[in-house]
Amino acid sequence: MKRSPGNKETCWLVLEPYAHPVIAGNNVLIYNSISGVKLEFRDSPGISRLAGDLTDPSKGFAAAVDPGNESSEIKGFISALRGSYSGDIISSRDGIRPVVIRPRPVMLNYPPPADYQDFTIGDYLRNIYFFLNASEEPSAAGYTHAMKQFPCMAYDASGYSELPASAVLNNYMPYDGISGLGMDLTGADLTRYSQLDDLLPYLKKLISPIICHIPLPCHDPEAVEKLIRLKNCRVSFYVTLPSGPALLPELMNKMFFQKTKKRFDFNFVIRSLDEYNMITGLLPGIGLEKVFFLPYYSGENFEFFRDNIFLSKDDILGSKPDQRQVYSRQVLNEHSFGKLYVMPSGEVFPNLNGEPLGSVYNESIPGLVRREVTTGNAWNLTRMKVQPCSGCLYRFLCPPIGNYERSMQRFNFCDIL
Ligand code: SF4
Repeated sequence: MKRSPGNKETCWLVLEPYAHPVIAGNNVLIYNSISGVKLEFRDSPGISRLAGDLTDPSKGFAAAVDPGNESSEIKGFISALRGSYSGDIISSRDGIRPVVIRPRPVMLNYPPPADYQDFTIGDYLRNIYFFLNASEEPSAAGYTHAMKQFPCMAYDASGYSELPASAVLNNYMPYDGISGLGMDLTGADLTRYSQLDDLLPYLKKLISPIICHIPLPCHDPEAVEKLIRLKNCRVSFYVTLPSGPALLPELMNKMFFQKTKKRFDFNFVIRSLDEYNMITGLLPGIGLEKVFFLPYYSGENFEFFRDNIFLSKDDILGSKPDQRQVYSRQVLNEHSFGKLYVMPSGEVFPNLNGEPLGSVYNESIPGLVRREVTTGNAWNLTRMKVQPCSGCLYRFLCPPIGNYERSMQRFNFCDIL
């Protein structure tokens, strides 16, 4: 144990509760989630060891230091911590360790024990996506992999299929009104769904918000009008080239669109820089309000992703996750958590890039949710669990793993590792 020269006091280095260390071999990052300051130290076994002590409960989250006699490297570390209000020195007599309490990531009721008596899906479930139909059409349009990346244009090589309306109602109505729960209706193209008119009177009675995900072009534009008449409904269009943008002026001239335009989103699906440039050239003349660009990975446009979608080091260092995000990113995947996908076959997935949990024809929604939160691995897929992110200093700074990464089975959308 080190003591300050000339007295019997011991100096202890401690971190502030909002300073989060990440250690990867001899590299250390300290992230201050209040100020956003990132301190990075490379190739230093001494700093790595010290940072390890600061995060070790068996060491009381404190490391004895001798500020006047440490190496210049350690002095620099201490000074950087103190200068950024990320850590400090505490003195004590007779070598007594200070009491340091560090917060740790704990989420209420998560993960619950398998026999948790007070289990309620309201604690976990956020959206149920019902894929009302699937078809081979997305392959003709060049979007075979779309549903692995965003919830629309469901592809089924074996042909057209539909989820019965009764399966939608039986598996949603009992939970309607749960705070925070929403219904998403989608498919290959839900305007082609043969039971839409049967479903509408029930949808009208729902308390939950409904989002309808519809490709443009779609089979039946009049179905869009029926859906947007539901007061709790939004429509999210997935506009594809070449013919989607040309349909927009006519849509925007419709009376129902004029009255409800704040409830429409437009996702422009792009596969290349040329498509992006084409759409940005068209947009000023169209005058839409809520516009998003949705990159589509076709299996053949990796360069487009690498050049335009990957995060640069500047992007990553420019991010400032707050304390809650730093903790949640260690425990669960914020993009995926709470979402169930019901396919026309009745199979239910926690994420469409993985295995099904079961079927709505054999099991209840609460049973399926319980399975995912107790033994599943989709809602809790964090960067701590995948290579190379688990060994990367920036694993809390990067956004949670998204569907593009899952579908490509490549988790480093970056130029770091
Ligand atoms: S390797 Fe993973 S954690 Fe590291 S910067 Fe890249 S995406 Fe982020």
